Amino acid sequence: MIVRPAPEIWEAALGRLQLEISKANFHTWLSKTIGLNCQDGKFVIGVPNTFVAEYLEKNQRSLLEKVLTGVVREDVRVEFRVAARPEKSLPERTNLPLFNPRYTFDTFVVGNSNNLAYAAAAKVVENPGLAFNPLFLYGGAGLGKTHLLHAIGNKVAINHLAALYVSAEQYTNELVTAIREKTTDEFRKKFRNADILLVDDVQFFAGKEQTEENFFYTFNELHSNNRQIVLASDQPPKSIPMLKERLRSRLEWGLVADLQPPDFETRLGILQNKARRDGVDIEPDVLEFIALQIKENIRALEGSLNRVVAYSALLRTMVTPEIAARALEDIAGKEPKLAAITPNLITETVAGTFRLTLSDLRGRGRDKATVFARQVCMYLIRQETDCSLSEIGRELGDRSPATISYAYEKMSSSINNDPHLKRQVFNIQQKIYAARPDSR
Ligand code: ADP
Ligand code: MG
Repeated sequence: MIVRPAPEIWEAALGRLQLEISKANFHTWLSKTIGLNCQDGKFVIGVPNTFVAEYLEKNQRSLLEKVLTGVVREDVRVEFRVAARPEKSLPERTNLPLFNPRYTFDTFVVGNSNNLAYAAAAKVVENPGLAFNPLFLYGGAGLGKTHLLHAIGNKVAINHLAALYVSAEQYTNELVTAIREKTTDEFRKKFRNADILLVDDVQFFAGKEQTEENFFYTFNELHSNNRQIVLASDQPPKSIPMLKERLRSRLEWGLVADLQPPDFETRLGILQNKARRDGVDIEPDVLEFIALQIKENIRALEGSLNRVVAYSALLRTMVTPEIAARALEDIAGKEPKLAAITPNLITETVAGTFRLTLSDLRGRGRDKATVFARQVCMYLIRQETDCSLSEIGRELGDRSPATISYAYEKMSSSINNDPHLKRQVFNIQQKIYAARPDSR
């Protein structure tokens, strides 16, 4: 048997691992590892810090052992030891996302289901750090949590306060990067400097001990300086599984406000606003019909209107309640079916529209047309599905969550300022709804 040095074995294993796991994951967890020692069936992997060791131990151990066994051709057990790679690359810089200009207090329709959350968010803008701190918003998917966080951001930006919006997932990714690149000071400073910190989808922290711990400190630091913190989650703090008690109790310090599924009037109001904004001419009884069908999710409610409009455009006929009924036939009364719009369906539709292939969209091509189509695609997946930034990144050729977030925010604001682009994207949306496979 040929005995090879551990670093060389590890390089070979890394080569194989690159094919097995997503690029983002590889970059985050494996790119700074080294092979330290290989003896008696034990392989020691050097990792930059305990955070990475903990993650790999929990999630990748069996894959690493399988791949290493394939390289050395005998059974291997792995062990992790903290030992950084000598060279240090430059820190990645991610731009802070802007706030979605569509998500404002003005465009938020208030009803019994969400008036507490709305009022609390408005109060926070009036009196940041003083009214309720933190403000914790919770409610099911598509009920307006992200909308309210952005509304706060949009509003306080006018008062020149530094508002920082971050999803818990983004926070986690940036923290991992900061630890890897040894830029935790900058990371800390970035969050400490926020006058208002808006953290979305907090449930993502559950069970990620190191991140939770780190966030706990960020939270305390901001809170003790009277900086405002607003959090959103799909559940109240007490129901988030595995959230450590001390963070949980911090999250309950201020006001916890819920968003419930909207009542009929609110749903109708939301549809009327959207129809007006999109410039679609539609009979009131059609809007009422849609508002009666879709009850649980405002994103789905808006999607249904798009679907009905697309359907009537395809048939070149006026939108009547009958047409609406046919367009929504397979989803009426069984809302979750609408969630069947998949990232893949969107990617295919976008590819078709721009006469590109799926590999063009998922690939690395940088020509203007491809980049534009890709950004439209990222925007639409974010808009039409509940996929996380990471999931969208994976769908589109393993791009980082920061890339997706950036593209989304950029598109949102371009669409808002460019009626032609808005129409173009709207047309693609219609195609997606029309192309949606019949789920019966
Ligand atoms: P969540 O973050 O709770 O999942 P979002 O804030 O992303 O939900 O809302 C989903 C969609 O519904 C967005 O397009 C948002 O603008 C819209 N929406 C939610 N609540 C309202 C509301 N009260 N008035 C108008 N639009 C709303
Ligand atoms: Mg959200």
